[in-house]
This record gives sequence, structure tokens and C-alpha cells, in this order.
Amino acid sequence: MSIENGKNRINSYVVAASEWERKKGSSNNVYMSQDFQEERYSISDDEEIIKKGKEHIQKIIIETLYKEHDLSDKDLIWLIDNIDNKGKKLLFEKSKSLRDKYYGKKVYLRGLIEFTNYCKRECRYCGINAYNKKAVRYRLTKEEILECCENGRKLGYSTFVLQGGEDSYFKDEVMVDIVKSIKKKYKGCAVTLSIGERSYESYKVLREAGVDRFLLRHETVNEELYRWLHPKSKFETRKNCLLNLKKLGYQTGAGFMVGLPWYTTKDYVGDLRFIKNLQAEMVGIGPYITHEDTSMKDYKSGDLETTILMLSLVRMLLPKVLLPATTALGTISKDGRKAGLDVGCNVIMPNLSPENHRKDYSLYNNKKSSGSESAQALKLIVDEIEKYGYKCDMARGDSKMLDSSI
Ligand code: SF4
Repeated sequence: MSIENGKNRINSYVVAASEWERKKGSSNNVYMSQDFQEERYSISDDEEIIKKGKEHIQKIIIETLYKEHDLSDKDLIWLIDNIDNKGKKLLFEKSKSLRDKYYGKKVYLRGLIEFTNYCKRECRYCGINAYNKKAVRYRLTKEEILECCENGRKLGYSTFVLQGGEDSYFKDEVMVDIVKSIKKKYKGCAVTLSIGERSYESYKVLREAGVDRFLLRHETVNEELYRWLHPKSKFETRKNCLLNLKKLGYQTGAGFMVGLPWYTTKDYVGDLRFIKNLQAEMVGIGPYITHEDTSMKDYKSGDLETTILMLSLVRMLLPKVLLPATTALGTISKDGRKAGLDVGCNVIMPNLSPENHRKDYSLYNNKKSSGSESAQALKLIVDEIEKYGYKCDMARGDSKMLDSSI
């Protein structure tokens, strides 16, 4: 998609956001639409529906979400707080059927290259944050990155995801050179970057060099918690980075961790609303998992059940989204990946990074880094996914959100 198209696409979103600002009389928190939402009809407030009992409210809310791909914030809160096993069964069936409607049983495989674990940031939860002196640092050369792509291409990959910490070594000119070399050598491939916060100008030159997609989890819309988790950073900056990526026509990925300390249902609904309003083409959601060398080592990790619920809700809110069954999901439970696919996930990112560095890209404890997560064991991954009833697809697999005809 061209930069111009990206600007047009975001235009309708900006109009909607300004409307909220006008209603709220504030220029902050355009995504935190609680005030605006309170003006919306809520099923959970409807006396006729309430009279018929909790099970009925749950059914109407899920069916409405399935049809309209939205709900008031109040109804989302009600659903998360009240959903029972019967409701989950219905919700998961519906979210899975939406994935099937737009993507069939296809699961896109992306080749992940973790090319640097140097990071100047201080995220409290992350095992490679700048303050962790125990982390063994590495940085791949351009030639090593291209070698990973070459191995990936031989295996059939068409998307390369270059992920790294915020490493000052990889200035624009270095990244542009790497991206152009990949695009030149592997015609038609997609390049995704996941390299953190950069200026508008930086995102612009990378986009012009050919980068197709950018992953930047928003982490949490709870600004106070955001500051605590990232002591020198602000949610506002994060939000502006994501808006800039959208403006530049990137397929943009946001996302959050499930099970952060003190998290409330309202926080989750804020995250879901943020993703919906941003119209993120990709959403990365995984459980928070502790890392023993961080200041958050004693906090509890997130659970599979809540993560699955959030993934299902994202598919319902954005039916055409690209939704990975993340490595973290596969780390907290041996059935995590299947559980994600069964509620509507459709992307898996096997690791193409050199074997000898995988253990050093240690974002959290016990991160899967070998076995079926290695590209050499691609067949194992394909067999596993096909055993679950899905079909691996190594095409570029762009987001169907770019195609307004479906
Ligand atoms: S989460 Fe990302 S930005 Fe934060 S410390 Fe880890 S690698 Fe760096």
C-alpha cells in the first residue's frame, strides 16, 4: 500500500477521534472512549433483556458482537466479568468462524529473526532491558541477517520479521541498507520490523525502503501503569508512534500482555477499544511471563484462560485482523498454540535466528527457543498445525483489512 493510501485510510479514523474529543471536550485520551461510550445503548442496561436472566444477556451480547463487531464498553466489561463456560463455548465458536470466513483454515508462517538483544530501554518486565547486566548481548551483522533470510527462503518463507531491542547501532541508514538488500534479493517478500519507538522521519525512510509491516505493542492504555512499567517513557509517545505508522501506510501491529499486576477489566476494555479504534491490522497478545533477572520477578504470570478470551474478543472486534498464536502462549501451556488457533488466531512465527543466539533473546523465563520453534524443525510445526485441522501457508499473507471488497 502506498503512503498516500495509508493517509486516506487513517482519515476516517482521525475524523472519528476528533468527534470523541469534541464530545469529551479534551484533546487527551482519544482512545479512552468511556465518556462517549456512556452515551451508547448497552444491552446489559436493557430492562427487557435483564428480566430474562444472565444467560440471556450473555447470549445477546455475544450475538451482537458477532454481527456488529462492536459493543459499548459497558457491555464488554459485563461480558468479561460474567462470561461462563457456556458463553465461552459460544464466543469461541463465533470468533473461530470469523477467522474461517476471511482466512479459512490457513495459518500463515512468518520467519522470525531476532537480530539484536541490545536495548536502551528499561521495561521492567523484560529480560533484555538495559539494566540487566546478566544478559549476554549479541548483534547480528547484515551478512548474518541475510543468511537467516536465505535459510528461510529455502524453506519457503515469504515474510521476514526482523525483531530487536532498541539498539542505537541500527540507525536509519543501517536498517535501510538491510531492508533494501532483503527486498532486492527476495522479490515479492514482505518485511516486518519490530524495533520499537522511532521518529516519524525514521519510520518514513524505512517505509520508503520497502518495509511493509511494523509491530509495536501499545502495552497498556493504563497511563499510570505504563509509566511504572516503563519508567522513562510515556504512553502518549507510544500512541503517537502507532498513529505515525498508520499514517505512513504500514500494516500496523499493536497489542498487550495479559495478567499484568493490578490489571482490571476496565484496563482490558481500554486495550480492546484502543486496538479497535486504531484499526490495527495485526494484534499481538500474549500472557505476561516473569523473568528471573528483572525487578518484576516475583509477580505472578498471566494465564492461558484470560489470554484466550482476549484473543477471541479481538477477532470479534476486528474480524479480518492478523492474529498470532504467540510464542508466549506456547510457553505457558503445551496446548497454548492450539488453544489460540481454536479461538481465531491465524499466524505463527517460527524462529530463523542462529541457533547459538536463541537462548540470549530471553524476554521471559523458559521462552521457547528450540525444538518445534526452530526453522530446522519446520516439518514438526507443519505436522503439529495440520494435526489440529489447519493448513500452513507460507505466502506473504497480508491483512485482509487492506481489501475493502470483502
Ligand atoms: S520490551 Fe522491548 S523495548 Fe522493552 S526492554 Fe525489552 S526489548 Fe527493550
